[in-house]
Amino acid sequence: MIELANISKKFGQMPVLEDLSLTVMPHSRTVIVGPSGSGKTTLLRILAGFESPDSGRIVLNGKTLFDADTFIPAHLRGIGFVPQEGGLFPHMKVADNIAYGLKGSKQENQRRVAELMDLVSLSHALADHWPHEISGGQQQRVALARALAQEPVLMLLDEPFSALDTGLRAATRKATANLLDEAGVASVLVTHDQQEALSFASQIAVMRKGSFAQVGSPMEVYYQPVDEATALFLGDALIFPARVNGEVATCALGPVPVDNPLASGEKRIMLRHEQVVITPRVSDCDPAQAVTITDVDFTGYLSTLTLACPAWPGVLQVKTVSQQRWQVNMAVVLRVEGYGCVLGDY
Ligand code: ADP
Ligand code: MG
Repeated sequence: MIELANISKKFGQMPVLEDLSLTVMPHSRTVIVGPSGSGKTTLLRILAGFESPDSGRIVLNGKTLFDADTFIPAHLRGIGFVPQEGGLFPHMKVADNIAYGLKGSKQENQRRVAELMDLVSLSHALADHWPHEISGGQQQRVALARALAQEPVLMLLDEPFSALDTGLRAATRKATANLLDEAGVASVLVTHDQQEALSFASQIAVMRKGSFAQVGSPMEVYYQPVDEATALFLGDALIFPARVNGEVATCALGPVPVDNPLASGEKRIMLRHEQVVITPRVSDCDPAQAVTITDVDFTGYLSTLTLACPAWPGVLQVKTVSQQRWQVNMAVVLRVEGYGCVLGDY
């Protein structure tokens, strides 16, 4: 439904966006994730119509919003925008913030504001409060209600949960995803938080220095990253040499199936830590496979184990669930689950 094609943008001499293309399907949730300064806000502002790209094309439901001869201004695009920090009008009460831009009679607007407050689970008692009198999570929901009031076909959200603390952030994220689904509104959310991206998205675009390194489902970009930088940006990874032959990589952890077998040969492959299952060793084993714990960093739910593994090149540290009382000198067995991802030549 929304198509970005070959979007580029420079500020002065500095290229900020380079040849970006992306398709957002109806009812989907796309997340653009990248480090600070990678151009995420600039891209959202271009989509919203607050900024023009230097080149490229934007088409929404068959209607061109931007190309070499077209610029549809923001208020005519049918796109909602929740800016970073919510951007509420501080001198307007909650209800007036939500009603801003509604064109009905006073009575109609009151009814609509009440509906919108229900939609975002805000108590009607807050209607008469000033923005500074309500919590960060509530302010975020007011900003969302104000954007939904325009009945957009696409909602843009710029780091909408970054001001909230961890527990509230996860709950607000889930509530926002549900209410956008219920309202049938497609969304593009921007964040620098990998877990937030993986959790919210049906489609993730990983942004690096103004380009998309990879676009795919959360599981694709996490388990089959296109390169080492993408792998490490999205979470902890074990990256090590292996001899790839067809669909099997032979490495220090034994044979590992790979699901993106490129050419055979000496390659670097990647596993996520949770794919290495560690269990206490109960019987004698081949000395070449003897693995011993040399250090335990217990952090509650997870522990980082340092392992002496004869075949491993260098220090092997694996994060694992603390379901055992892991101890130094404990003998363990490693088993790999799932597929390795071939990253490239060694
Ligand atoms: P992000 O949202 O990923 O942190 P931004 O899109 O805000 O990144 O910024 C990308 C780059 O563009 C940064 O280097 C920033 O300093 C620069 N930039 C953003 N807006 C402007 C502007 N209006 N004028 C000049 N440079 C800008
Ligand atoms: Mg930004």
